[in-house]
This record gives sequence, structure tokens and C-alpha cells, in this order.
Amino acid sequence: MKRRLFTPGPTPVPEQVLLRMAEPIIHHRTAEYRAVAARVNANLGTLFQTKRPVLTLTCSGTGGVEASFVSLFSPGEKVIAVNGGKFGERWVQLPRALGLEVVDAAVEWGNALSPEELTAILRAHPDAKGVYITQCETSTGTSFDVRALATVIRKHSDALVCVDAISSLGAHELRFDDWGLDVCVTGSQKGLMIPPGLAFVALSTRAEERMKGSTMPRFYFDLRKALDAHSSHDTPWTPAVSLVTAADSALQLLLQEGVENSWARHRTLAAACRAGVAAVGLTLYSQSPSVSVTAVNLPGGLDWKGFNRRLGEEYGIVVAGGQGPVSGKIFRIAHLGYYDELDMVTVIAAVERALSDSGIRIDPGAGVRAVQGEFTRAGKGGGA
Ligand SMILES: *Cc1c(COP(=O)(O)O)cnc(C)c1O
Repeated sequence: MKRRLFTPGPTPVPEQVLLRMAEPIIHHRTAEYRAVAARVNANLGTLFQTKRPVLTLTCSGTGGVEASFVSLFSPGEKVIAVNGGKFGERWVQLPRALGLEVVDAAVEWGNALSPEELTAILRAHPDAKGVYITQCETSTGTSFDVRALATVIRKHSDALVCVDAISSLGAHELRFDDWGLDVCVTGSQKGLMIPPGLAFVALSTRAEERMKGSTMPRFYFDLRKALDAHSSHDTPWTPAVSLVTAADSALQLLLQEGVENSWARHRTLAAACRAGVAAVGLTLYSQSPSVSVTAVNLPGGLDWKGFNRRLGEEYGIVVAGGQGPVSGKIFRIAHLGYYDELDMVTVIAAVERALSDSGIRIDPGAGVRAVQGEFTRAGKGGGA
């Protein structure tokens, strides 16, 4: 059976990238490796829309965020963590475990925080040294308006603007320099179209300055060491060489398409997915749906385990379930990274079949028709 992955990380890896990873390993302290790293570093700048360095760390996305906490702050300092789901929750727990004081800026799951709400929190905590925002809260399929939130942070506070763009970079518009961001982290296994194992961290000059005074205990995840090595396209420790070469190929693919074209493609795929979901009679979970992943309410009476087993075993489709309080209540369809229009036709067709098989009455083909209609409207597909 042909397996098709529709999960918000890991995401499918293009064939060209897989083949690149099959090449013989090269040594990392060589001119050959540094040439690859130089290209990766330059192309990461384009992806993050920054002239500042973007560091490559050998760890998953969470490691990249931890590296920012231990490199930028000092014990007892206050940070605000915007928390609207599983990942927001992690950015409350992680700095607490490190001995920072954390303001839990909780927002109801499925909702985004408004700039007005953040302004009130900033006013109540003028001593906050950093604010962490998740651009796409993957657990709820919710997009946060990073540009607007960054604007109010810069206006009302000296706190560093720190963004988890792990499930959004390459899909959601993000302009590191223009939006005045200080830290932005992404991971390899989402929009970047490579396997898990790398994190990428962009740092502003303000963040670099702040690092000089940071007294958090750290060694391996010291971004100052990574930044020093970065200037010669090097890393302080052995990098995951095969993943860096994969990133080289994947970034070239992404930039051939163009970053803005990639954002537009993700917007269209998400709109088509939402149209398909609505046409089969299902509703969205999020009030502010992301372009990376669509969270769908499971219809009443539909058993998630049985539905998911059908999708996987009968049709080879792997989607994601709900996490935490929405476990068994929602499912999530990713369209983040290596996806095209016909992938959306496929996944909605499979959802129609699995719903029918589960005894839910639907109009077969209605979802697929809506998906196709959305692409026609976007000026592509349907022979337009
Ligand atoms: C996947 C994800 C993470 C965690 O990344 P890991 O690579 O699993 O450490 C963090 N934040 C968001 C929004 C994610 O989607």
C-alpha cells in the first residue's frame, strides 16, 4: 500500500532530498562541508527574510527554543509565554524548569491572542525580558498574528520578541528583519521538507547584545559558541552532516519556487482543505485557522480510533489526532511543506471514504468538488 503522510511534522521529504542524503558522508571540518554550510546559511537568510545569521543546531525544534532560553536570559528573569495549546504550554514549562519566572499568557485553545490582550499583559509586566509567541499553534491549527503582536511588544516593552515558527516557516508569511523579531526558531521536519533532527535559530543584534550578559548555566546549547563558529560556516560540535546536506537540497527547491510563492501555495492549499472539510459537513476547530495545518472537529458519535484506523489501514493516509484536552475530539490534516493541489484532493477523498465507511452520511465527491473549486478560484486547476 502507498502510504501518504499528512502530519504536521514529520512531513514528506522530496525524492531529490532523500537521494542527496544517500550520498557518501563528508567530513565536517573540510572546505567541502563549509561550502555546503555557506550555501545553507545564505539560503536560510532568505527563508527567514533576514540579513542576520541563522544558526543550525543539531537537535529538534524544542532544543532550538531551549538554546534561546539558556543563551539570552539570566536566572530569575521574567518572560511572558503566549500559551494557546500544547506548544505554548511547553514554552511555559521549559523556562520554568530552567529557573526563569514565567508569565503564562493563556488563551483558550483554538483562539489566538489579540494585540490588545497582549498590551494589557505587557503593561502588567513591564520587567519582562522576553515574550515567546508561537506563530502556528500546531496542536489547535491556530495562527497567531506575529507581525501585530511584535509591533505591540516593541511599542510597550524592551522584551525580546521570540517566535516559535517551527510549524510555520516557509508556509506562513514571516519577515524577521522587517517585523522587528529578535529570535525565531524553526525545525527541519516541518516546512523545510527534511527529516527530523535540526533546529534553526535566527538572532537579531539586540538578541546578540543580550547574550553577552546572560548567566544561565549552559554548555552544548550556548548560542554564543554557535554564533562564533557560524562566521566561518562552522559549528562548535559535530553537526548532523547528512541533514545539513539535505537542508542544502531542500532550501534550493524552496528558493526555486520562491519564498513568497511558497506562502501563496500554502494559503491556497489551506483554503482548499477548509472548503473540502466544510463540504463534507465537518467544522473547523480553530477560530484563526493556520495555513500549515487544518484542525477539524470530529462529528459527534464518530470514534476517532476507528476512523483513524480506516484512514491508515484502508487508504494509507496518516493524519494527526488531537492532543491533550482535544484528544479524540479533533483530527488534523497537514499541508505544510512538500504538498501540492492533488494532495488535497487525495486527502479529502480519503476523509470522505473513511467517514462513509464509519457510517457517517455524506454526499460522496462533494468534498473533492469543493477542493477543486477552490483551486479553480485561485486561478489554477480545473483546466482554468
Ligand atoms: C513540532 C513543533 C515543536 C516541537 O518541535 P520538536 O522538533 O518536536 O522539538 C514546537 N513548536 C511547534 C509549534 C511545533 O509544531
